[in-house]
Amino acid sequence: MIPLPPLREVVAKHGLAASKALGQNFLFDEQLLTRIAAIPGSLKDASVLEVGPGPGGLTRALLRAGARVTAIEMDRRCLPALAELAEAFPGRLRVIEGDALKVAPETLFDEPWHVVANLPYNVGTALFTGWLSGQDWPPRWRSLTLMFQQEVAERIVAQAGSDAYGRLAVLAQWRATPRIAMKVHRSAFTPPPKVMSAVIHVEPATMPPGVSARMLERVTEAAFGQRRKMLRQSLKGLPGALAALETLGIDAARRAETLTVADFVAIAGVLST
Ligand code: SAM
Repeated sequence: MIPLPPLREVVAKHGLAASKALGQNFLFDEQLLTRIAAIPGSLKDASVLEVGPGPGGLTRALLRAGARVTAIEMDRRCLPALAELAEAFPGRLRVIEGDALKVAPETLFDEPWHVVANLPYNVGTALFTGWLSGQDWPPRWRSLTLMFQQEVAERIVAQAGSDAYGRLAVLAQWRATPRIAMKVHRSAFTPPPKVMSAVIHVEPATMPPGVSARMLERVTEAAFGQRRKMLRQSLKGLPGALAALETLGIDAARRAETLTVADFVAIAGVLST
């Protein structure tokens, strides 16, 4: 294994005091980082997009797993530490300085890529919903392995009828298979955040035929926009939706959170034709 200085030394050497504004909570436990890097499966010679490498803890675990890493980092203070890592793994690490929300990954890779990231919560959710939206499916990414607040992770994998169930669950589950791969205690981070975290792993699944992604979004937006209302009320502004419920035998007196992902797909399917 290529010897590297302890991460705390890297942080001290480059003066990388964690910035609250950039949502920086670093991971220094190399065993934990190795376990996160193993979640996507073998990364030997695989392309990986890492968003927010910071001082490079997860990055070095990915490189040690044999990945070819492209990392997007907004905080230029981290660039010298990442340059040292690139030197230790010649030709394996490309670092892009910038805001990941403004970089289209399609422009970075010629082949499919895995995404692995420990990101601030709001950036992670925005990227996640972006990667799961869109009509083209399967996507060009092979898997997503993302650290979230545990509460958000639970919303992603939630089943119908639970409090956590909503638009995010439907978006994540209708043509992909999200799971909570690992829970991470807040004390694993420096500084520790207020809440617990969890790593979500998602792989694309088959997209149900004849369903427009945009239409499904419109249905869930309307249905969950008025969560406690009956579908009769929440969907009445969406042309054809109440007739679709009738066609499918779904009682209009039900509320959005009682419908399964398959129910929403069926409604969007009727409205997409
Ligand atoms: N991956 C490192 C680790 O696990 O220790 C750092 C994690 S820290 C939670 C999040 C990182 O994302 C920080 O380095 C921060 O500068 C970076 N970041 C925040 N917003 C970003 C954005 N919009 N685009 C790219 N990087 C961002």
